[in-house]
Amino acid sequence: MKAMVLRRPNTPLVMEERPLPAPGEGELRLRVEACGVCRTDLHVVDGELTQPKLPIIPGHEIVGRVEALGPGVSGFTPGQRVGVPWLGHTCGHCPYCASARENLCDDPLFTGYTRDGGYATHAVADASYSFALPDEGDPATLAPLLCAGLIGWRTLKMAGAASVIGIYGFGAAAHIIAQVAIQQGKRVHAFVRPGDAPAAEFARSLGAASAQDSDAPAPEKLDAALIFAPVGALVPRALAATRKGGAVVCGGIHMSDIPAFPYALLWEERRLLSVANLTREDAREFLSLAPTLALEMHAVRYPLAQANEALNDLRDGRLQGAAVLIP
Ligand SMILES: [Zn+2]
Ligand SMILES: [Zn+2]
Repeated sequence: MKAMVLRRPNTPLVMEERPLPAPGEGELRLRVEACGVCRTDLHVVDGELTQPKLPIIPGHEIVGRVEALGPGVSGFTPGQRVGVPWLGHTCGHCPYCASARENLCDDPLFTGYTRDGGYATHAVADASYSFALPDEGDPATLAPLLCAGLIGWRTLKMAGAASVIGIYGFGAAAHIIAQVAIQQGKRVHAFVRPGDAPAAEFARSLGAASAQDSDAPAPEKLDAALIFAPVGALVPRALAATRKGGAVVCGGIHMSDIPAFPYALLWEERRLLSVANLTREDAREFLSLAPTLALEMHAVRYPLAQANEALNDLRDGRLQGAAVLIP
Protein backbone atom coordinates (compact mmCIF):
# COMPACT_ATOMS: atom_id res chain seq x y z
CA MET A 1 0.00 0.00 0.00
CA LYS A 2 0.96 3.63 -0.38
CA ALA A 3 0.45 6.18 2.39
CA MET A 4 1.22 9.82 3.10
CA VAL A 5 2.89 9.71 6.51
CA LEU A 6 3.59 12.33 9.16
CA ARG A 7 6.89 11.38 10.77
CA ARG A 8 7.26 14.49 12.94
CA PRO A 9 4.92 17.47 13.51
CA ASN A 10 5.73 20.56 11.46
CA THR A 11 7.33 18.54 8.66
CA PRO A 12 5.72 17.68 5.31
CA LEU A 13 4.02 14.31 4.90
CA VAL A 14 6.15 11.73 3.10
CA MET A 15 4.89 9.09 0.65
CA GLU A 16 5.73 5.60 1.93
CA GLU A 17 5.27 2.13 0.47
CA ARG A 18 4.20 -0.38 3.12
CA PRO A 19 3.11 -4.01 3.09
CA LEU A 20 -0.65 -4.48 2.89
CA PRO A 21 -1.86 -4.69 6.53
CA ALA A 22 -3.81 -7.73 7.72
CA PRO A 23 -6.97 -6.81 9.65
CA GLY A 24 -6.82 -7.97 13.27
CA GLU A 25 -9.62 -9.26 15.49
CA GLY A 26 -12.74 -7.15 14.90
CA GLU A 27 -11.14 -5.10 12.14
CA LEU A 28 -11.76 -4.40 8.46
CA ARG A 29 -9.23 -3.69 5.75
CA LEU A 30 -10.51 -1.13 3.29
CA ARG A 31 -9.41 -0.05 -0.13
CA VAL A 32 -9.68 3.72 0.23
CA GLU A 33 -11.80 5.45 -2.41
CA ALA A 34 -11.51 8.94 -0.93
CA CYS A 35 -10.41 10.61 2.30
CA GLY A 36 -11.42 14.10 3.35
CA VAL A 37 -8.91 16.63 4.65
CA CYS A 38 -10.14 18.16 7.90
CA ARG A 39 -8.87 21.15 9.86
CA THR A 40 -8.11 18.69 12.67
CA ASP A 41 -5.53 17.07 10.37
CA LEU A 42 -3.86 20.47 10.17
CA HIS A 43 -3.82 20.71 13.96
CA VAL A 44 -2.08 17.28 14.04
CA VAL A 45 0.43 18.15 11.31
CA ASP A 46 1.13 21.58 12.82
CA GLY A 47 1.70 20.11 16.31
CA GLU A 48 -1.26 21.86 17.94
CA LEU A 49 -2.66 18.47 18.97
CA THR A 50 0.23 17.17 20.96
CA GLN A 51 -0.36 13.42 21.47
CA PRO A 52 -0.25 11.78 18.03
CA LYS A 53 0.99 8.25 17.44
CA LEU A 54 4.14 8.81 15.38
CA PRO A 55 4.65 8.10 12.60
CA ILE A 56 0.95 8.54 11.78
CA ILE A 57 -1.12 8.30 8.62
CA PRO A 58 -3.58 11.20 9.01
CA GLY A 59 -7.14 11.28 7.73
CA HIS A 60 -10.45 10.56 9.45
CA GLU A 61 -13.03 11.04 6.71
CA ILE A 62 -12.48 7.71 5.00
CA VAL A 63 -14.72 6.27 2.31
CA GLY A 64 -13.60 2.81 1.27
CA ARG A 65 -14.59 -0.64 0.06
CA VAL A 66 -14.26 -3.61 2.39
CA GLU A 67 -11.42 -5.75 1.13
CA ALA A 68 -10.79 -8.18 4.00
CA LEU A 69 -12.52 -9.03 7.28
CA GLY A 70 -10.56 -9.82 10.42
CA PRO A 71 -11.54 -12.66 12.79
CA GLY A 72 -14.87 -12.18 14.52
CA VAL A 73 -16.26 -9.53 12.15
CA SER A 74 -19.86 -9.90 11.04
CA GLY A 75 -22.31 -7.57 9.34
CA PHE A 76 -19.96 -6.53 6.53
CA THR A 77 -19.34 -8.08 3.14
CA PRO A 78 -16.35 -7.72 0.79
CA GLY A 79 -16.90 -4.93 -1.71
CA GLN A 80 -19.32 -3.08 0.55
CA ARG A 81 -18.76 0.66 0.87
CA VAL A 82 -18.14 1.95 4.40
CA GLY A 83 -17.15 5.19 6.10
CA VAL A 84 -14.71 5.62 8.97
CA PRO A 85 -14.87 8.76 11.14
CA TRP A 86 -12.64 10.35 13.80
CA LEU A 87 -13.88 8.19 16.69
CA GLY A 88 -11.91 5.02 15.99
CA HIS A 89 -12.41 3.05 19.21
CA THR A 90 -13.68 3.47 22.78
CA CYS A 91 -13.06 1.41 25.92
CA GLY A 92 -16.71 0.50 26.46
CA HIS A 93 -16.57 0.57 30.28
CA CYS A 94 -15.44 3.98 31.57
CA PRO A 95 -18.07 6.25 33.19
CA TYR A 96 -18.53 8.11 29.89
CA CYS A 97 -18.94 5.00 27.77
CA ALA A 98 -21.35 3.65 30.40
CA SER A 99 -23.53 6.77 30.20
CA ALA A 100 -23.97 7.14 26.40
CA ARG A 101 -21.18 9.72 26.19
CA GLU A 102 -18.57 7.62 24.42
CA ASN A 103 -17.36 10.80 22.68
CA LEU A 104 -15.72 11.63 26.04
CA CYS A 105 -14.24 8.13 26.60
CA ASP A 106 -11.23 8.05 28.93
CA ASP A 107 -9.32 5.62 26.72
CA PRO A 108 -10.29 6.25 23.08
CA LEU A 109 -8.50 5.88 19.77
CA PHE A 110 -8.90 8.52 17.11
CA THR A 111 -8.55 7.77 13.41
CA GLY A 112 -5.62 9.58 11.83
CA TYR A 113 -4.32 10.74 15.23
CA THR A 114 -3.78 7.79 17.57
CA ARG A 115 -4.47 5.07 14.99
CA ASP A 116 -3.59 5.19 11.31
CA GLY A 117 -6.09 6.91 9.04
CA GLY A 118 -7.00 7.28 5.40
CA TYR A 119 -4.35 9.34 3.61
CA ALA A 120 -3.49 6.06 1.90
CA THR A 121 -4.56 3.49 -0.66
CA HIS A 122 -5.64 1.13 2.15
CA ALA A 123 -6.68 1.46 5.77
CA VAL A 124 -7.53 -0.83 8.68
CA ALA A 125 -10.47 0.19 10.87
CA ASP A 126 -12.34 -1.18 13.88
CA ALA A 127 -15.49 -2.67 12.35
CA SER A 128 -17.57 -1.49 15.33
CA TYR A 129 -16.69 2.11 14.43
CA SER A 130 -17.26 1.76 10.67
CA PHE A 131 -20.54 2.67 9.01
CA ALA A 132 -22.30 1.38 5.92
CA LEU A 133 -22.52 4.04 3.19
CA PRO A 134 -24.64 4.14 0.01
CA ASP A 135 -23.11 2.05 -2.75
CA GLU A 136 -23.92 4.70 -5.34
CA GLY A 137 -22.48 8.16 -5.58
CA ASP A 138 -19.17 9.90 -5.79
CA PRO A 139 -16.94 8.92 -2.84
CA ALA A 140 -15.39 12.41 -2.87
CA THR A 141 -18.74 13.97 -1.97
CA LEU A 142 -19.44 11.38 0.74
CA ALA A 143 -16.09 11.76 2.54
CA PRO A 144 -16.73 15.23 4.05
CA LEU A 145 -19.90 13.93 5.70
CA LEU A 146 -17.75 11.78 7.99
CA CYS A 147 -16.31 14.65 10.01
CA ALA A 148 -17.35 18.03 8.67
CA GLY A 149 -20.88 16.64 8.48
CA LEU A 150 -20.90 14.62 11.71
CA ILE A 151 -19.22 17.19 13.94
CA GLY A 152 -21.29 19.91 12.29
CA TRP A 153 -24.40 17.89 13.09
CA ARG A 154 -23.44 17.45 16.75
CA THR A 155 -22.66 21.18 16.94
CA LEU A 156 -26.04 22.09 15.43
CA LYS A 157 -27.87 19.72 17.79
CA MET A 158 -26.10 21.25 20.78
CA ALA A 159 -27.45 24.66 19.78
CA GLY A 160 -30.93 23.38 20.68
CA ALA A 161 -34.15 24.85 19.34
CA ALA A 162 -32.76 27.86 17.48
CA SER A 163 -34.36 29.39 14.42
CA VAL A 164 -31.78 32.12 13.72
CA ILE A 165 -28.25 30.77 13.57
CA GLY A 166 -24.92 32.47 13.04
CA ILE A 167 -22.06 30.38 11.61
CA TYR A 168 -18.55 31.67 12.22
CA GLY A 169 -15.94 30.28 9.82
CA PHE A 170 -17.34 29.08 6.52
CA GLY A 171 -15.28 26.01 5.66
CA ALA A 172 -16.14 22.35 5.13
CA ALA A 173 -18.34 21.85 8.23
CA ALA A 174 -20.19 25.14 7.77
CA HIS A 175 -20.94 24.50 4.11
CA ILE A 176 -22.68 21.24 5.00
CA ILE A 177 -24.42 22.23 8.21
CA ALA A 178 -25.65 25.58 6.86
CA GLN A 179 -27.55 23.61 4.21
CA VAL A 180 -28.93 21.20 6.83
CA ALA A 181 -30.10 24.12 9.02
CA ILE A 182 -31.67 25.96 6.07
CA GLN A 183 -33.52 22.81 4.99
CA GLN A 184 -34.81 22.52 8.56
CA GLY A 185 -36.33 25.98 8.09
CA LYS A 186 -33.74 27.94 10.07
CA ARG A 187 -32.29 31.27 8.97
CA VAL A 188 -28.50 31.22 8.69
CA HIS A 189 -26.15 34.18 8.83
CA ALA A 190 -22.54 33.50 7.83
CA PHE A 191 -19.53 35.28 9.33
CA VAL A 192 -16.28 34.92 7.40
CA ARG A 193 -12.65 35.90 7.86
CA PRO A 194 -12.58 39.72 7.36
CA GLY A 195 -12.07 40.49 3.68
CA ASP A 196 -12.72 36.92 2.48
CA ALA A 197 -15.25 37.90 -0.20
CA PRO A 198 -15.17 34.48 -1.96
CA ALA A 199 -16.19 32.74 1.31
CA ALA A 200 -19.05 35.23 1.80
CA GLU A 201 -20.20 34.66 -1.78
CA PHE A 202 -19.97 30.88 -1.27
CA ALA A 203 -22.16 31.13 1.86
CA ARG A 204 -24.79 33.21 0.01
CA SER A 205 -24.77 30.74 -2.90
CA LEU A 206 -25.71 27.97 -0.45
CA GLY A 207 -28.68 29.92 0.87
CA ALA A 208 -27.32 31.96 3.79
CA ALA A 209 -29.64 34.91 4.51
CA SER A 210 -26.57 37.11 4.90
CA ALA A 211 -22.80 36.81 4.84
CA GLN A 212 -20.43 39.34 6.36
CA ASP A 213 -17.01 39.77 7.89
CA SER A 214 -16.80 38.25 11.37
CA ASP A 215 -15.98 41.67 12.87
CA ALA A 216 -19.14 43.23 11.42
CA PRO A 217 -22.36 43.42 13.48
CA ALA A 218 -24.94 40.66 13.00
CA PRO A 219 -27.97 41.71 10.93
CA GLU A 220 -30.28 40.43 13.69
CA LYS A 221 -29.96 38.85 17.15
CA LEU A 222 -28.91 35.19 16.91
CA ASP A 223 -30.64 32.37 18.80
CA ALA A 224 -27.39 30.44 18.53
CA ALA A 225 -23.91 30.83 17.12
CA LEU A 226 -21.79 27.95 15.84
CA ILE A 227 -18.05 28.63 15.72
CA PHE A 228 -16.02 26.46 13.33
CA ALA A 229 -13.04 28.80 12.86
CA PRO A 230 -10.17 28.09 15.31
CA VAL A 231 -10.18 31.70 16.47
CA GLY A 232 -10.79 32.38 20.17
CA ALA A 233 -11.53 36.08 19.54
CA LEU A 234 -14.77 34.97 17.87
CA VAL A 235 -16.19 33.75 21.21
CA PRO A 236 -16.91 37.19 22.74
CA ARG A 237 -18.07 38.46 19.34
CA ALA A 238 -20.50 35.58 18.98
CA LEU A 239 -21.76 36.04 22.55
CA ALA A 240 -22.38 39.73 21.82
CA ALA A 241 -24.42 38.77 18.75
CA THR A 242 -26.53 36.17 20.62
CA ARG A 243 -29.84 36.92 22.29
CA LYS A 244 -30.75 36.25 25.94
CA GLY A 245 -30.79 32.54 26.68
CA GLY A 246 -28.95 31.76 23.45
CA ALA A 247 -26.06 29.35 22.91
CA VAL A 248 -22.58 29.75 21.48
CA VAL A 249 -21.20 26.36 20.44
CA CYS A 250 -17.53 25.87 19.59
CA GLY A 251 -17.30 23.00 17.09
CA GLY A 252 -13.52 22.73 16.70
CA ILE A 253 -10.96 20.61 18.54
CA HIS A 254 -8.47 23.45 18.89
CA MET A 255 -8.81 27.21 19.18
CA SER A 256 -6.50 30.12 19.88
CA ASP A 257 -6.91 31.64 23.37
CA ILE A 258 -10.19 33.36 24.11
CA PRO A 259 -9.61 36.99 25.12
CA ALA A 260 -11.04 38.26 28.42
CA PHE A 261 -14.54 39.63 28.07
CA PRO A 262 -17.10 41.33 30.32
CA TYR A 263 -19.46 39.04 32.20
CA ALA A 264 -22.36 40.98 30.68
CA LEU A 265 -21.75 39.13 27.39
CA LEU A 266 -22.43 35.78 29.08
CA TRP A 267 -25.08 36.91 31.56
CA GLU A 268 -28.81 36.53 30.85
CA GLU A 269 -28.36 32.78 30.61
CA ARG A 270 -26.33 32.67 27.47
CA ARG A 271 -24.53 29.33 27.24
CA LEU A 272 -21.00 28.74 25.99
CA LEU A 273 -20.40 25.12 24.94
CA SER A 274 -17.82 22.99 23.19
CA VAL A 275 -18.22 19.87 21.10
CA ALA A 276 -15.77 17.01 21.58
CA ASN A 277 -15.63 14.20 19.05
CA LEU A 278 -18.78 12.27 18.14
CA THR A 279 -20.72 9.24 19.25
CA ARG A 280 -21.66 6.34 16.99
CA GLU A 281 -25.27 7.39 17.57
CA ASP A 282 -24.44 10.80 16.00
CA ALA A 283 -22.97 8.96 13.02
CA ARG A 284 -25.95 6.64 12.52
CA GLU A 285 -28.34 9.57 12.87
CA PHE A 286 -26.57 11.93 10.48
CA LEU A 287 -25.58 9.32 7.88
CA SER A 288 -29.22 8.26 7.59
CA LEU A 289 -30.45 11.88 7.50
CA ALA A 290 -27.95 13.16 4.92
CA PRO A 291 -29.26 11.16 1.91
CA THR A 292 -32.79 12.55 2.55
CA LEU A 293 -31.54 16.14 2.20
CA ALA A 294 -30.56 17.86 -1.02
CA LEU A 295 -26.99 18.62 0.05
CA GLU A 296 -24.80 20.34 -2.49
CA MET A 297 -21.35 19.03 -1.64
CA HIS A 298 -18.33 21.04 -2.73
CA ALA A 299 -15.39 18.65 -2.83
CA VAL A 300 -12.04 19.95 -4.04
CA ARG A 301 -10.13 16.88 -5.21
CA TYR A 302 -6.39 16.29 -4.84
CA PRO A 303 -4.40 13.19 -5.76
CA LEU A 304 -3.11 11.38 -2.64
CA ALA A 305 0.46 12.42 -3.44
CA GLN A 306 -0.63 16.08 -3.14
CA ALA A 307 -1.78 15.81 0.48
CA ASN A 308 0.70 18.51 1.49
CA GLU A 309 -0.72 20.90 -1.11
CA ALA A 310 -4.24 20.19 0.15
CA LEU A 311 -3.18 20.91 3.74
CA ASN A 312 -1.42 24.12 2.68
CA ASP A 313 -4.47 25.30 0.74
CA LEU A 314 -6.68 24.64 3.77
CA ARG A 315 -4.28 26.40 6.14
CA ASP A 316 -4.13 29.45 3.87
CA GLY A 317 -7.88 29.58 3.21
CA ARG A 318 -7.45 29.01 -0.52
CA LEU A 319 -10.35 26.59 -1.04
CA GLN A 320 -14.15 26.70 -0.75
CA GLY A 321 -15.84 23.61 0.63
CA ALA A 322 -13.94 20.45 1.51
CA ALA A 323 -10.59 19.15 0.31
CA VAL A 324 -10.62 15.44 -0.51
CA LEU A 325 -7.71 13.13 -1.34
CA ILE A 326 -8.20 10.51 -4.05
CA PRO A 327 -5.71 7.62 -4.00
ZN1 LIG B 1 -14.65 4.68 27.59
ZN1 LIG C 1 -12.36 16.24 11.37
